[in-house]
Amino acid sequence: MSSSISIFWHRRDLRTEDLRPLSEALQKEKNVLPLFIFDTNILNRLENKKDARVEFIHRKLKEIKTTYQEHGSDLLIKIGEPLKIWKEILNEYKVEAVYAGRDYEPYALERDKAVYEFLQTKNIRFYGFRDHVIFEKSDIVKDDGKPYTVFTPYSKKWKSKLQDSDLALQSCTPHFKKLYSTSPLYFPSLKELGFEEAGIPFPEEKCSDEIIKKYHETRDIPSLHGTSRLSLHLRFGTISVRQLTRAALKLNEKYLNELIWREFYQMILYHFPHTIEKSFKPAFDNIQWENNEAHFEAWCQGKTGYPLVDAGMRELNATGWMHNRTRMVVASFLTKHLLIDWRWGEAYFKEKLLDYECASNIGGWQWACGSGTDAAPYFRVFNPTTQQENFDPDKIYIKKWIPEYGTKKYPDPIIDHTFARDRILKRFKFALDEKKAV
Ligand code: FAD
Repeated sequence: MSSSISIFWHRRDLRTEDLRPLSEALQKEKNVLPLFIFDTNILNRLENKKDARVEFIHRKLKEIKTTYQEHGSDLLIKIGEPLKIWKEILNEYKVEAVYAGRDYEPYALERDKAVYEFLQTKNIRFYGFRDHVIFEKSDIVKDDGKPYTVFTPYSKKWKSKLQDSDLALQSCTPHFKKLYSTSPLYFPSLKELGFEEAGIPFPEEKCSDEIIKKYHETRDIPSLHGTSRLSLHLRFGTISVRQLTRAALKLNEKYLNELIWREFYQMILYHFPHTIEKSFKPAFDNIQWENNEAHFEAWCQGKTGYPLVDAGMRELNATGWMHNRTRMVVASFLTKHLLIDWRWGEAYFKEKLLDYECASNIGGWQWACGSGTDAAPYFRVFNPTTQQENFDPDKIYIKKWIPEYGTKKYPDPIIDHTFARDRILKRFKFALDEKKAV
């Protein structure tokens, strides 16, 4: 076995600069070898072998690898179940310490706990760092120490606690001489991972200051490029949230608020992990859903006869992204008009969204259906026609995604709005009335 090393484990941070765990490892240790594990527990669950997210990760890892190679080092890639992989790594290298950014999803917490416990038995130090968010876990809590469940007071506390040091650049490049020098390491092809290219273009990794400056005026118009479209990059850490927060503070408070929504949902999932499967408000699990499969299929395909809903779903199916306004409209339509369980919609988004983020997706779906934290009240039912008139009055967005709009080929509405509205109000009221609920 060669000289001892420390490992920086890349997970949802596919970049090499402004990265706290890497910066710390490089400053505190010597011979730092970066690692990425293609986790088969996750890969094996992906049915679509053209999953664009795997292609994206693969592509970014190649760039990262090149950066490390330019500094005489490399990226160690492993494929398998994380715990088994760690056992394998310890047979190949003499490891002194492991550094990683913290991840708050239930699966990741379980994984990290198992790895931590294993490394402890080998006397290997394992350090986790807050990097994916500005504030994590219980950094922002109510005065009585309990987690917030309403956004506005959370965001106020978030802003009041923010200090320059929270946004300080975590520099890595100047310390790259501390990387472990090695001859080139193995890099699997996409095919070896069992995947193929999806052929979907990925959104750019940057957003102009102009878009962020005008964000409060343009953010609700789905036909415009009026939002940053950086969600994929925040999800996989190809940009640093500190960098984006520094820009938001300078350019637009409304934009900053959206970044805080992201952290709010991360915090909610951390404190209420059961919301992954159960409604945050338990009474909502008493609702008797219709779960009509033909309706669900029409919704998935963008053939409900409600143009804004259909345009949104078609945008999602074609690009892996959907505008936030239409995400809210399609989610409300599925749960309230069609009375289909929010979990069905959540699962479909999970399969399709490039920016799929467990915490934000669960949060968004439960918000739309009324079952979540700080959710829209159940009796506020979006009217998809009015939404279209307000946010796409010139029909630019709907015509872009529905070429047959206005012809006989475009379907009639699969459900009448007034009927659907009355039905949901009765059904939800019944379920939420504790005396009647079983
Ligand atoms: P911008 O408007 O430019 O916002 C900047 C960043 O702030 C986003 O990239 C995102 O990281 C964050 N953000 C913005 N709005 C929200 C929000 N409401 N909740 C949490 N974070 C937010 N976002 C995801 O990243 N992943 C998801 O899986 C996801 N699922 C959603 C499901 C539903 C039903 C709804 C209603 C919303 C969901 N969102 C999700 C939130 C939001 O729609 C997207 O973050 C946003 O549309 C991404 O586009 P953007 O990067 O241009 O966002």
